[in-house]
Amino acid sequence: MTEQELLALGYRKYTGRDIDVFFKKEQCAKSGRCVKGSTEVFDPGRKPWILPDNETSDKVKAVIDTCPSGALMYIVKNKQIFNTFKSDENRFYLETPEGKVIAYVDYVVSGSDVLIINGTFVDPSLRGQGIGQSLIEQVIKLAIDNDKKIVTLCPFAREIMEANEGFRQLIHR
Ligand code: SF4
Repeated sequence: MTEQELLALGYRKYTGRDIDVFFKKEQCAKSGRCVKGSTEVFDPGRKPWILPDNETSDKVKAVIDTCPSGALMYIVKNKQIFNTFKSDENRFYLETPEGKVIAYVDYVVSGSDVLIINGTFVDPSLRGQGIGQSLIEQVIKLAIDNDKKIVTLCPFAREIMEANEGFRQLIHR
């Protein structure tokens, strides 16, 4: 099933780096197998109660495969796509074999210690695979490697950075 189909069916999405997890509360049979399988990923006492990045994607998949009700689903992201990013002076991007740019993040260096993320774009046909987040992580890596902070004029990039404690520390305030 696609992400759009799962969301239309009422599943809630829990985004991970390599795998996204989807949960539909009304369908849960309360077997507890998810929690038994990994309390790191599935912790009903925590918010959010599912953190896909706390185990490998293979482990997350294996636990979800034990769910008897179908309340838990997953979509593994296409890592091959992430390895094909290109870059130039102010952009990381993805293009088709014909050279059409289908996803990008634009940034500029400001002064000696700041990178500004101006905007991101992901073609609608590629959405839901974490490509936007991976592009932003390219800029974050660049900032870390060059000891710079990040200003985000892009609301999407800001959201990604605010949601991760490690990334949050890199925001220029
Ligand atoms: S394994 Fe599935 S059915 Fe069991 S508690 Fe977890 S989500 Fe609910």
